[in-house]
Amino acid sequence: MSTLFISDLHLSARTPAVNRAFWTFLSERAIRAEALYILGDLVEAWLGDDDPDPLARELVSRLRALTDAGVQVRLIRGNRDFLMGKRFARETGARILPDYQVLETGSRRLLLCHGDTLCTDDRAYQRFRRLVQSPLGRGVLARLPLTRRQALAENWRRRSHQANRNKAENIMDVNPTTVRRIAARHEADILIHGHTHRPGIHDHDFGHRIVLGDWGDLGWFAELDSGEVELHSFPIDAAGGTG
Ligand code: MN
Repeated sequence: MSTLFISDLHLSARTPAVNRAFWTFLSERAIRAEALYILGDLVEAWLGDDDPDPLARELVSRLRALTDAGVQVRLIRGNRDFLMGKRFARETGARILPDYQVLETGSRRLLLCHGDTLCTDDRAYQRFRRLVQSPLGRGVLARLPLTRRQALAENWRRRSHQANRNKAENIMDVNPTTVRRIAARHEADILIHGHTHRPGIHDHDFGHRIVLGDWGDLGWFAELDSGEVELHSFPIDAAGGTG
């Protein structure tokens, strides 16, 4: 039995093919796994567990079907879905993990995170993150009426899109010193993250860093089996099949 890792699906009403590909991934692949780790940005925007949005509801019931079938679902929140909370966890049967989670398997220590905290060159983003993702920030947001949260999310998305257009490419990638420091702190020899939308496998002095890809024309996942981690991709066609 294997363990699967995904991130950055950015599911939304505007991505029907990716949504369908994810449902297929759940019912055909994840169902045969021991565990599914979702490393953030599963959806384009999560405005709160009380959002009656049909896609959010469908996501909850699809994940519930997976946990009911005995698959462990573990989730680290990303910058798009940091408002996923207790009700989401209760309704799906998924467990929400802290920003950094170590997974021990045989002789290996895998460190899992979304990846945004590694991009420390982007100081403006890190300031914003500390503000809105603090316990206080989260608490304030969660208490706003849903329509207010919708307006805020739209505003942030637009501003982040504009700001990112003017940022140098390397600013939006991980900072190598931060990667080394975080890996050392957790005594990890494999680091798995997403967020940067730059899938690949990188060698570091501590071991390997596996970057998950964002789902679009391709779907991406990493698979841990017998102590080895492999990165896979598959085509997503417009009909939503998995190629
Ligand atoms: Mn992200």
